[in-house]
Amino acid sequence: MQRIVIVGGGIGGLCAARAVALAGHEPLVLERSPVGNAIGAGLMLWPNAVHALDALGHGSAVRTVAAPAQHAVFRDATGRTLSEVDSEMVGRRAGAPMLVVERPALHEVLAAGVTVRYDSAVSAVDERGVILAGGERVHADAVIGADGIGSVVREHVCPGAQPVDTGYTVIRGIAAHDIGHGEAFEAWGCGEIVGGAALPGARSYWFYEAPSALVERDPLAIVGATNWPAPIPAQLAATPSESILVNRILRLAALPAWTRGTVALLGDAAHAMEPNLGQGAAQTIEDAEALLVALRASNELPHALTAYATARRRRAHMFQRESSRFARIALSTHTRPRNLFMRLSPEMVRRRTMEALLRRHAPPRTVSP
Ligand SMILES: Cc1cc2nc3c(=O)[nH]c(=O)nc-3n(C[C@H](O)[C@H](O)[C@H](O)COP(=O)(O)OP(=O)(O)OC[C@H]3O[C@@H](n4cnc5c(N)ncnc54)[C@H](O)[C@@H]3O)c2cc1C
Repeated sequence: MQRIVIVGGGIGGLCAARAVALAGHEPLVLERSPVGNAIGAGLMLWPNAVHALDALGHGSAVRTVAAPAQHAVFRDATGRTLSEVDSEMVGRRAGAPMLVVERPALHEVLAAGVTVRYDSAVSAVDERGVILAGGERVHADAVIGADGIGSVVREHVCPGAQPVDTGYTVIRGIAAHDIGHGEAFEAWGCGEIVGGAALPGARSYWFYEAPSALVERDPLAIVGATNWPAPIPAQLAATPSESILVNRILRLAALPAWTRGTVALLGDAAHAMEPNLGQGAAQTIEDAEALLVALRASNELPHALTAYATARRRRAHMFQRESSRFARIALSTHTRPRNLFMRLSPEMVRRRTMEALLRRHAPPRTVSP
């Protein structure tokens, strides 16, 4: 048994800890925040994420705290339907459902049984372990950097690789408003979009994305000022203002390396992408599944970490590219040709494109749900 320190206790760190433990090693998660308080936003879990959660043995518990996403509709800013997707069928054909979950509920499931040392910000990393902000050294046989887009561990693996500000900001909220069981939606305007999905317990989440210069002046007023179609006005009215989150959208370019000796990157630290395909967490969970397979296959940690990175890099980089491509379409200001294209492309073609993206090149399932 070897000791593997995981920097970061988000979705990536908690899933990585599970993989390390299932492979027979000792995980220790170091998290800089004082307590485990995941921020309350909604998260879409695509079938590939659910498959990977199954492989980590988390699938059944996540299903109990999630709502299904069964039908998605894309509209223009006036509410006219551009296209619809039968998400239930996508899930059936993929062999796992599409789910929607509140982040805190997901974190609670993922954190069960994981040792997390809170209030432990890592300031430096080397081949012997990590150094905390207060100067304490924590020894490790290997280090996994799951410390998100502003990763400190990335500086050791890929010095100088910095995130890029896309120029867009997203506002998110959770509403005590029922938008209909299994429903998800987006409405695409001119350089700005809204969207959301049904959550468990007759609640729902929503988001609004637009150029930062526009949003940051007065985030709340700006969403409400535009005449977005239903259900956005009712959702806004049912959202407590203290639960609203405002974040700039950053992304990473594909990194030249994910590992350096006994140090590896995982999740947003390795492949932060624009959120428009809803695949950031899914790719993070797929990382953890691949890490489990690699650690089970070899006790030589540098070898296992290289095998993990090799299994994952190509696919994660593809999602980085596709997420940005989809964002440029959704946020386009050339609304007429975009909307026409959306209306004319057949549902089956869109569904097949989605299924092709979801097709997994990840390793086979390792633990039954
Ligand atoms: C608006 C928005 C909507 C999204 N929607 C979806 C979606 O619907 N579906 C989906 O699959 N993905 C979605 N994503 C992406 C998803 O949120 C991320 O990909 C995912 O949370 C990445 O998890 P992570 O653990 O790698 O990073 P993070 O969640 O950023 O976690 C990193 C953790 O590391 C800790 N940390 C950082 N630095 C240090 C340090 N030096 N020392 C110790 N701890 C540290 C942080 O406190 C944090 O807890 C969305 C993203 C955004 C921005």
